[in-house]
Amino acid sequence: YAESMGRNRYAVFTRAMEKAVVRRHVLECELHKALQESRFILRFQPQIADDDYKCIGAEALLRWSHPTEGIVSPTEFIPIAEQNHLIVPIGEWVLKQVCHQIKYWLETYGYSPFITVNLSAVQIRSSNLVEYIEKLLEQTKIPPHLLELEITETVLLHEGRASIEVLNQLKKLGLKLSIDDFGTGYSSLNYLKRLPLDKLKIDRSFVKDIPGDTDSETIINTIINMSHDMGLEVIAEGVETKEQLNYLLAEQCCLFQGFYFDPPLSLKQIETKYFDNLHHSVLYDSKVVSLK
Ligand code: C2E
Ligand code: MG
Ligand code: MG
Ligand code: MG
Repeated sequence: YAESMGRNRYAVFTRAMEKAVVRRHVLECELHKALQESRFILRFQPQIADDDYKCIGAEALLRWSHPTEGIVSPTEFIPIAEQNHLIVPIGEWVLKQVCHQIKYWLETYGYSPFITVNLSAVQIRSSNLVEYIEKLLEQTKIPPHLLELEITETVLLHEGRASIEVLNQLKKLGLKLSIDDFGTGYSSLNYLKRLPLDKLKIDRSFVKDIPGDTDSETIINTIINMSHDMGLEVIAEGVETKEQLNYLLAEQCCLFQGFYFDPPLSLKQIETKYFDNLHHSVLYDSKVVSLK
C-alpha cells in the first residue's frame, strides 16, 4: 500500500512538473510573438502621499494579454524573459510607453505623477540602457525626475561595480532611483552608502504583519528611521488595511502603495479617479485616519 501510494504521489508530482515545463516552453516561444504583436499592457498603481491623499506617483506594472491564456502575470513571464534576454526589448517598450504617457499627461492635464518602472538586472547589464533612456528623454522632453527606476537588492548582489556605474550614469541623467522589496534581499547594507539612491520601498512581507507582529514592526521602524536619517524617501508597499496605514502614519511613513488605496489601474481608471478632477483630492475615510 505504502509503495503504491508513493508511486502514485510520484506520478502526480511528475505530471504537474511536466505540465509546468510544457507551459513554460509554450510561453517562452510565444513571448517573441507577443512583443511583435504588441500584446503587452501597462497598469498603473498609485502611490499616495499622506498630506492630502493625492496620487503623487504611480508604479507601471506589466501584463501580457495572451490570446488563449488571458492575462499572464509578470511573476510568471518576466523570469522567462530574463533568461532569453527578451527582457531587454520588453523593458525598452515599457520605458518608451511610460515616457510618452508622462508627456501626454503633462500636455493634457498640465500635470503628471512621477512614474516608477521596474528594472531587471539583465537590463542593467545590457550595453545600451543608459543611451536608450537618454534618447527617450530627448525625444519626449519630459522632466527626468518624473521617471523613477526600481531595482531590487539582488541586482547589487551579483553585479558589483559595473552596475553601480550604470546606476550613477542614470542618476546623472536626472532620474530617481529606488530599492524595491527592501529588506528581503541583501545581507549587507553597505551599498546604501555607495549608491545614488532616492527612495526605499518597504517590502509587502513586512507590512502584511503589522500591527501586531513585533519582528515586522521592528524591521519597519528601523527602515523608516534609517531612511529619514540618510535623507531618503520611504514608501510602504502592499498596504491593504486601515490598521496598517495607521501604524505606518504613526511611525512617520508618509507614502503608500497598496490595495487599501488602489490595485494596479488601467489608464482610463487612473485618469478618471485622479486626473479628471485634479483640484478635488480623493479622501480615504479621513475621519478614521489619524493625520498628523
Ligand atoms: P513589485 O515591483 O514588487 O510590484 C508590486 C507587486 O505587488 C505588483 O504585482 C502589485 O500588483 C502587487 N501589489 C500591490 N499592492 C498590493 C497589495 O496591497 N497586496 C498585494 N497582495 N499585492 C499588492 P504584479 O503587478 O503582479 O508584479 C509582480 C512583479 O513583477 C513586480 O513586483 C515586479 O518585480 C515584476 N514586474 C512587473 N512589471 C515589470 C516590468 O515592467 N519590468 C520588470 N523587470 N519587472 C516587472
Ligand atoms: Mg516594483
Ligand atoms: Mg515591490
Ligand atoms: Mg514586492
